[in-house]
Amino acid sequence: MTPFQSIGQAELRDDKNIATFGEIALKPDIRPDVLFRLTGKLQTTLELPQLIEIFFKDIQDTVLVDGISYRCRKLNTVVSQGKTCAHSVSYDLKTHGEGIGELVFFRSSRFREYELANIEGLLSTLLYPLRNALRYREALDASFRDPLTGVGNRVALDRTMDREVELCHRHDQDVSLLMIDLDHFKRINDSYGHSMGDAVLKQAVDEIMKCIRQTDLCFRYGGEEFLVLLTNAAHDDAMMVAERIRRSISAIQVQVMETAERVKVTASVGVASLQPSDSRASLINRADLALYTAKGAGRNQVIGDQELDQAETAVR
Ligand code: GH3
Ligand code: MG
Ligand code: MG
Repeated sequence: MTPFQSIGQAELRDDKNIATFGEIALKPDIRPDVLFRLTGKLQTTLELPQLIEIFFKDIQDTVLVDGISYRCRKLNTVVSQGKTCAHSVSYDLKTHGEGIGELVFFRSSRFREYELANIEGLLSTLLYPLRNALRYREALDASFRDPLTGVGNRVALDRTMDREVELCHRHDQDVSLLMIDLDHFKRINDSYGHSMGDAVLKQAVDEIMKCIRQTDLCFRYGGEEFLVLLTNAAHDDAMMVAERIRRSISAIQVQVMETAERVKVTASVGVASLQPSDSRASLINRADLALYTAKGAGRNQVIGDQELDQAETAVR
């Protein structure tokens, strides 16, 4: 911490009093109409960036601030307004004991004690709208995730793929798609039960995630079928990633409860790389055809669309 930084806690308790750092004796001196207007405005949105923007703009009537930065580790989110400066004061925000992130105020000159009291008074208007915005964001995130494996679901896929394909065409960037399907998966369910099948699915996704970069995207496409969008990956790179995934999945061993028996699984992978004439549908189609070819060739292998017969692609 630099000498210019202060740290405090802002917590709205049942009695609606704000608990401040150092329990500063000064009381906030904020015009009631300003507080009333700010409270009303903050209730107009559930979008985090908009909320932080409204707060930043409206507090300037009471205390001049050059920038603010809000961070929520749980949601891996940072929202900033204005600029960062040498002097800062940061608040660990809580409502009824629930951590809802950290808010830092920046200014080129030092904050005075009466200004800190006002900042804390203003913060009291932000806490509940902020908690609501976080809950909204969490609900929205959950609606795009497959609950079993945590990767994107079909809704997320539909929303993302068109945009990614269009962006890659526009910027002339490489993108490749892997379609991964677990082999003879039904047998695992039939032999060991559905919950063992679920455990194997989760493990397979863990292996996929270990093999791809943070900027790549993984979606559950069907029961035991996954799509991975590799950004900035030309065909050769994509084939290498696909092979790494195939090998990692084939090394999975899930213990059958309290026995020495281990369940193993393999996967077949189809790889397609974006061509200038491709739409989302044609790209998925080629990955699907490559996967189908890998299944036909004996499973537990990777086939790229470049290995497919062009005529076969045209017919399909
Ligand atoms: P192939 O090698 O040809 O892909 O054979 P397969 O058995 O993997 O394919 P098939 O399509 O015949 O069976 C897929 C199975 O996946 C059937 C279905 O019960 C199972 N499945 C789908 N979703 C889930 C799930 O969420 N959990 C579990 N445990 N099983 C699932
Ligand atoms: Mg399968
Ligand atoms: Mg399948």
